[in-house]
Amino acid sequence: MHELSLCLNAVEIITQQARRSGAQRVTGVWLEVGALACVEESALRFSFDMACRETLAQGCQLHIIHIPAQAWCWNCSAQVVATRYDECPQCHLPTLHIERSDGVQIKSIEVE
Ligand SMILES: [Zn+2]
Repeated sequence: MHELSLCLNAVEIITQQARRSGAQRVTGVWLEVGALACVEESALRFSFDMACRETLAQGCQLHIIHIPAQAWCWNCSAQVVATRYDECPQCHLPTLHIERSDGVQIKSIEVE
């Protein structure tokens, strides 16, 4: 399951950061999810809860921030917000280069 491996990675990083700062508990996590990450929010929340079990982040509040995909076109140089992977909305050629937003990133965490 795609979301679970993403969450296991994220929780690993989160708990490392928390431990390094001497925190007892992680109370909140903000995740940036790219529009093209192929992540379903309900699956992400469910997986995140599972990944947090028996870690410092157990029971923390998950905040999901949706990030639109920025892209530009090799062919016509248009700067666009991509809704699909491969087609430019201006010239309709499959020449879009996605600059960001195809993954999941930890924006910030809140600890006690
Ligand atoms: Zn184009």
